[in-house]
Amino acid sequence: MTERHESFTPEHLEECRNLLTEKRRQLTEDLDRLRTELGERSAPERSAGAPSDTPTHQADAGTETFDRELQEKLIEGHENRLLAIDEALGRLDAGTYGTCTVCGERIGMDRLRAKPWTTTCLDHAPDEGEGPGDRRTPKPWV
Ligand SMILES: [Zn+2]
Repeated sequence: MTERHESFTPEHLEECRNLLTEKRRQLTEDLDRLRTELGERSAPERSAGAPSDTPTHQADAGTETFDRELQEKLIEGHENRLLAIDEALGRLDAGTYGTCTVCGERIGMDRLRAKPWTTTCLDHAPDEGEGPGDRRTPKPWV
């Protein structure tokens, strides 16, 4: 048991709340934009933005689909992130914020600053590495 319980000050919690609120605002805006773009894409009549010197480009069909899938994934990712943020805000209100759901340890402020919606400490982060391996290097989550 490592004894590194740096307890959160009200300032820390306030800082996290601000981070979450700001991130939430950004994500909501992004999500709006992505959904609009996706909606516009599904309308077949649209040819705006295409350069005039490429009248019919068959290859575009493939890229379109790919872009669309990519965008849907992006939207899904945003939605999940928004949920995580809402949950984190709920935990802030409930006073349970910043504790690892696996080991119950306090999550470091550095980690919370980088990823304020996280529910686990760095040791128990489930899906954060890009692929397998034991690289524990913290990444900038921006
Ligand atoms: Zn943990």
